[in-house]
Amino acid sequence: MSAFIEAASPHTMNTYGRLPIALSHGQGCRVWDINGKSYLDALAGIAVNTLGHNHPELVPALQDQLGKMIHSCNYFHVPNAEVLAAKLVELSGMTNVFFCCTGLEANEAAIKLARKFGHDKGIDKPEIVVYEKAFHGRSIATLSATANEKLKTGFGPMLEGFVRVPVNDIEALKKATQGNPNVVAVFMETIQGEGGVNPMRVEYLKQVRALCDQNDWLMMIDEVQCGMGRTGKWFAHQWAGIVPDVMPLAKGLGSGVPIGAVVAGPKAAHIFQPGNHGTTFGGNPLAMRAGVETIRIMEKDGLMANAAKVGDHLRGALEKALAGVQGVKEIRGQGLMLGVELDRPCGAVWSRAAEAGLLLSVTADSVIRLVPPLIMTEAEADEVVSILAPLIKTFLAEKS
Ligand SMILES: *Cc1c(COP(=O)(O)O)cnc(C)c1O
Repeated sequence: MSAFIEAASPHTMNTYGRLPIALSHGQGCRVWDINGKSYLDALAGIAVNTLGHNHPELVPALQDQLGKMIHSCNYFHVPNAEVLAAKLVELSGMTNVFFCCTGLEANEAAIKLARKFGHDKGIDKPEIVVYEKAFHGRSIATLSATANEKLKTGFGPMLEGFVRVPVNDIEALKKATQGNPNVVAVFMETIQGEGGVNPMRVEYLKQVRALCDQNDWLMMIDEVQCGMGRTGKWFAHQWAGIVPDVMPLAKGLGSGVPIGAVVAGPKAAHIFQPGNHGTTFGGNPLAMRAGVETIRIMEKDGLMANAAKVGDHLRGALEKALAGVQGVKEIRGQGLMLGVELDRPCGAVWSRAAEAGLLLSVTADSVIRLVPPLIMTEAEADEVVSILAPLIKTFLAEKS
């Protein structure tokens, strides 16, 4: 008998537009709902389940940790926090890490770092450059840094201290900041996720790095979604050969266990002093074990190389299947972070794909976003395309 899923939850707040599906369990890139229907997972819990579901090495490690200690609190050292921090330092070329629990919390810490960086230099009203189409989270500070006006409606007043510029336009950035002594940082996503899978160009990243150096600004790169191997480098900005001063991480870092981190380079690593910042759950033993094991398994199994290889394959297969289709504007992204932009809003593709047994998401109204687990195989990528391409064609044929 099928379990009935109510359209509106009676007791949880009505914050999400949900599909009438409840997922029960998963294996690799495959998940099942409570009625036994199976789905191919090209969403990974929104770029979170790096290692897919029920990973044969991650699960026993977490079970072991659960039996030892889940949470201890920051009055005490957490040995795996040092192990994970050392690893993130090694992979990023930066120097110190602050652990928290979510993406917005990592970004909130980055904003506080930038403001204190300014205050320490005698700037009373520090300003941070942010971008059109940016998404940094739902707290008041990170929402203020976010571009999408729809998300902000009803929650004003927003925080002051942000200057907004278009992506990939160095002249616009120079013009917007010219003669402004209050600018302390530039804050960007290497590939905007919620904004519609919009990559910053390599050349632009280099230009911003140079401009930040010239002006003694912090270059802060939100790698919450595009980081942790998804694009085929540990961090997406590494394709430009640059190193930021501040880098918030979260989503894929713990392969499903809530975790966030702010990685800082020498310019930002010592801004926070005891008492300046903190969080109860941040860096707890369960989350740290998840982070350590996720990275260990990624390295051992070559999952970054897999993300690059399968990502290229997926993109190639999508390009081939959608070649010449009227209404497909662009296929973009890198590695296993891909977007297919249509010429019209396509929210319906989300639910129709789920009906057809494929989990994905639609972002920025008209961009179909694929962010599968990094363990995806080429055969599974082909399966994604075999479900998705006909669905897109049907959708576009109907509405035009
Ligand atoms: C998801 C996301 C966030 C917010 O992360 P939460 O864990 O939902 O708070 C911030 N920045 C980027 C780029 C994201 O994709």
